[in-house]
Amino acid sequence: MGDWKNICKDKDTRPQEQNYKSWKELPPIPICFPAHASKTGSWRTVRPVHDFEKCTKCGFCYLYCPEGTIQVGEDGYYHVDYKYCKGCGVCANQCPVKCISMVRESDVQEEK
Ligand code: SF4
Ligand code: SF4
Repeated sequence: MGDWKNICKDKDTRPQEQNYKSWKELPPIPICFPAHASKTGSWRTVRPVHDFEKCTKCGFCYLYCPEGTIQVGEDGYYHVDYKYCKGCGVCANQCPVKCISMVRESDVQEEK
């Protein structure tokens, strides 16, 4: 996984790209952050729900989410910001231990 957590630091403290000899050394990074994404509204039909009992804290869901809506919490687990999640299911597909379930919004109404 390289030092991708360092890459996400402030631009003045993260490693500079010229420190890497080639693109092959670059760690994978998220392509966007919630602050730069658009809010989802009410059209999403399914949402990802984590089973933290099985989660290994590997961070793959965070890395692969195309909306950048997954962030690590103080508990070390990765949490979805549903304001921005589009329900695409990429995180569930990439999770190596399959602990993310895509649940119908109609089944989680009472939790909102
Ligand atoms: S369902 Fe898609 S948008 Fe939502 S957290 Fe997973 S990867 Fe990100
Ligand atoms: S990809 Fe799965 S195991 Fe890894 S942090 Fe996300 S939910 Fe946990």
